[in-house]
Amino acid sequence: MSEVKTKRKTARHNVRYDEIAEQKEVVIDHKTDTLVYAMGGLGEVGKNMYCVEHDDEIIIIDCGVIFPDSDLLGVDYVIPDFTYLQQNQSKIKALVITHGHEDHIGGLPFFLKQVRIKEIWAGPFAKALIEKKLDEHHLLRSVKIREINSEESRIRTKYFSIGFVDTVHSIPDSYGIFINTPNGRIFETGDFKFDLTPIGKNSDYQKMAYIGQIGVTLLMSDSTNSSVPGWSISEGKVAQAINEQMAKTPGRMIVSTFASNTYRLAQILEAAVACNRKVAVFGRSMENVLDIGRRLGYINIPDSSFITGNELNTLPANRICIVCTGSQGEPMAALSRIANGTHRFIKILPGDTVLFSSNPIPGNAVSVGGVINQLTRVGANVITNSPLTSFHTTGHAPQEEQKLMLNLIKPKYFMPNHGEYKMLVQHSQTAMTTGIPKENCFVCANGDVLVLRNEEVFEAKERIQTDAIYVDGNDASGLSTSVIKDRRILAENGLVAVIVTIDSRYNKILCRPNIVSRGFVYIKESQTLLKEAELIVYDALKKKMQQRTTFGELKNCIRSSLEPYLYKKTNRNPIVIPIILNQKAAMEEIQAKMKARQASTRRK
Ligand SMILES: [Zn+2]
Ligand SMILES: [Zn+2]
Repeated sequence: MSEVKTKRKTARHNVRYDEIAEQKEVVIDHKTDTLVYAMGGLGEVGKNMYCVEHDDEIIIIDCGVIFPDSDLLGVDYVIPDFTYLQQNQSKIKALVITHGHEDHIGGLPFFLKQVRIKEIWAGPFAKALIEKKLDEHHLLRSVKIREINSEESRIRTKYFSIGFVDTVHSIPDSYGIFINTPNGRIFETGDFKFDLTPIGKNSDYQKMAYIGQIGVTLLMSDSTNSSVPGWSISEGKVAQAINEQMAKTPGRMIVSTFASNTYRLAQILEAAVACNRKVAVFGRSMENVLDIGRRLGYINIPDSSFITGNELNTLPANRICIVCTGSQGEPMAALSRIANGTHRFIKILPGDTVLFSSNPIPGNAVSVGGVINQLTRVGANVITNSPLTSFHTTGHAPQEEQKLMLNLIKPKYFMPNHGEYKMLVQHSQTAMTTGIPKENCFVCANGDVLVLRNEEVFEAKERIQTDAIYVDGNDASGLSTSVIKDRRILAENGLVAVIVTIDSRYNKILCRPNIVSRGFVYIKESQTLLKEAELIVYDALKKKMQQRTTFGELKNCIRSSLEPYLYKKTNRNPIVIPIILNQKAAMEEIQAKMKARQASTRRK
């Protein structure tokens, strides 16, 4: 067993920061390694989940989802594989949430169904979002959610002491997390940017600098904007641009932005009220954020400024501001429905102005373009963000702000996280320019394990299993890749069903096979092809049934005779489903035989 001793540190003059460094009540154990690994978030933007493990304790940071690419047909979410954590659930001492975005909290309902934990720590805004989410999944009673106060909250376990640092991001109550471990201090930035004139709370520069001063062994930092040079535009400047646009727009103003961007929503609503406009908010996720934002005091707009959809026609156009979801071209969101004329309350009128307070996320440009075209076609004046207009800014640090973080925290070792592979590599290169040696930068994949040993870091040989799990609806058991593969074949090549009627008593086909297809060929024009296919199957089966055979062999015979023929004729490989119907009398005979066999085994 490893030798352990408890170490108490003497009080420092700075009372507030004192506890950051101290390991009060924390067991100091240099003999056991501290391990750091990601269940998700490395090599991807999404499903963030980072773990710190020491002996019989695990600390988890975040539990997110990633939304699937369009080639994962029918998949609603992708989540990390929780098997390792399930096997080690007695070790889990804390789950802390950096902020309330889906890529950090969206996996919680699935996680809690598989892994028992006592409590989750989250800031006020994330806590409200998590409560709503867990309530929808009837999981609210399964776990206690403790509210983080960045100034005072401290989580202490046998080996760890954990604290929080205010950061600026595109949602309120975002934190960086520092973890004192027996082998060194870790700082995980969470999603962050630096903004010298933010809306809402500013980053706690002093605390970050203090943590850097007392020494950080490993920094894990947000890599989303690693390839973007320079500094980000301030949210204050965006607020100003929206104000000016709102004031000079003559008719109705329709603004679309990210639902969760609470401060932006507050800015848009305040600008509308300042311009003597009443506001109507559409889109479930945005109404939800509005509700929480007002309850927690981030959005301060009087009830009298809000109108419902029914009241829109009672006011002149220049007294109206509509705020809605759909800035990413999501087909079911409010803005798409406004654009295609299916929204319950809003039809585009001549003179309407639609403002996108957003940028398309890579991959969404085509659908956003489609919505913009539709809006323009029905007569709206569409304004999008551009380098010249400042109607939107990012929530993630570009290169210069990443450097500022590296300079404040001054880590000995660096592991870029929250990003695709190229972003992680770029962030490492940025870190090197701030003086971190190349050999101290670790570009890792999900499941790679970093070892902290006495304030040194190296990569372990062992890995932890971390596959991506596809969630279909609420089923988190994980669709196997074969299901996804089938869906892709169905989408691209279609389906061919072959129906054969036989009499197994005489080993005989009763009539020619019948072929039905969907999404394969246009049936009317392919009569000869299908008739010929039926004959090919018929001949193959007749040959096969000259000897005794099984249902399985017959199905294989249908597939192996039909698939090459269809491919040769159409250059397509549809899914072939053989359906074998047995004559009623033959089925009865089989069932009677089975009953007799069961009875005889029972007698034995
Ligand atoms: Zn975020
Ligand atoms: Zn994120």
